[in-house]
Amino acid sequence: MEKKIEVAILGATGSVGQKFIEMLSDHPWFEISELAASEKSSGKKYQDAVNWIMQTPLNDRVAELEVKNCEPILKSKFVFSALDASVAGEIEADFARAGYYVISNARNHRFDEDVPLLIPEVNADHLEIVKDQKFGKGFIVTNPNCSTIGLVMALKPLQDNFGIESVNVVTMQAISGGGYPGIPSMDILDNVIPFISGEENKMETEPLKILGEIKDKKIVNTDIKVSAQCNRVPVQDGHLEAVQIKFNKKPSKEEIINVWKNFKGVPQELNLPSAPVNPIIYCENEKHPQPKTHRNMGNGMSVSVGRLRECSIFDYKFVVLSHNTVRGAAGGTILAAELLKAKGYTE
Ligand code: NAP
Repeated sequence: MEKKIEVAILGATGSVGQKFIEMLSDHPWFEISELAASEKSSGKKYQDAVNWIMQTPLNDRVAELEVKNCEPILKSKFVFSALDASVAGEIEADFARAGYYVISNARNHRFDEDVPLLIPEVNADHLEIVKDQKFGKGFIVTNPNCSTIGLVMALKPLQDNFGIESVNVVTMQAISGGGYPGIPSMDILDNVIPFISGEENKMETEPLKILGEIKDKKIVNTDIKVSAQCNRVPVQDGHLEAVQIKFNKKPSKEEIINVWKNFKGVPQELNLPSAPVNPIIYCENEKHPQPKTHRNMGNGMSVSVGRLRECSIFDYKFVVLSHNTVRGAAGGTILAAELLKAKGYTE
């Protein structure tokens, strides 16, 4: 059997870091060899540094690993970053400059001109720009914001087939999206908070880069108009989004459902280990999708869509659900790493 590729996780103690550990516990290509976090955690055994909140038990071997500092002196060339944005920017750039392949969940490098903002099923062709990155042999690839990912997965086949003029989206976002320990229980229980710092701007700008085209080795943004309103709701995992959409050429309801059901991307063509068979699942029941019932569809990597109906202001409206720490973070990053390896971007 071929030896597995060693990977390191930066920010391993947080909400996304823990999801990485859970998802990589039995990965066919990758093996966790190093964990790193802040000075508060470094030097401790992982099991003593973390407050493990996953629903599966912590792997015995990983529990014993010593947490390291986030310095580019690790042996693993693949580095998955789940770092807090207050520190991610510089640390990730240091790793890339030192020759590491960094795949990040943090916002810091998402709009760097030479950094792809990747959803593997949507814009695998954008990876081409990493060849000319300023970092030399190392590079940075970023994962979009967790609520952007669900939205853009649903939009991609619609944009390709019918052209989109504008989108209005209202989100209902899970508490795990705010990191661990996140919002105090007294604030979120019996409540909805109609504000998530910076989120609306991310949702209004990131789709334009992701759905953009490569021209002369540069990404040219698409010109769709997006308006977003973001809310935090008392759900553990899974972001639900109510979307209104106006097309360049209005399709029928059947045509829309058909392109969603038939949507496949490069990860499915390459049969990558973390690629869901169906990236988009259309739910026929008018009460679906729901976070509790549908967030784990396709091992948390499928996006569920439902309630497609005519809209009296836009052309149509529908609902999208995606798992924020799986498809929206750790799972999306692992799929990106599989794509980078399969496409020959890594040694
Ligand atoms: P989190 O639970 O707050 O975890 C943050 C991690 O960063 C912890 O491991 C923490 O280590 C580490 N860290 C903090 N300060 C550090 C420092 N000075 N040096 C080194 N490490 C430091 O956050 P999260 O929810 O996992 O999110 C991680 C990143 O992914 C963020 O940038 C977030 O915006 C992004 N993201 C999150 C989601 C989601 O659904 N949660 C989805 C997409 C993207 P210690 O425990 O040692 O302090």
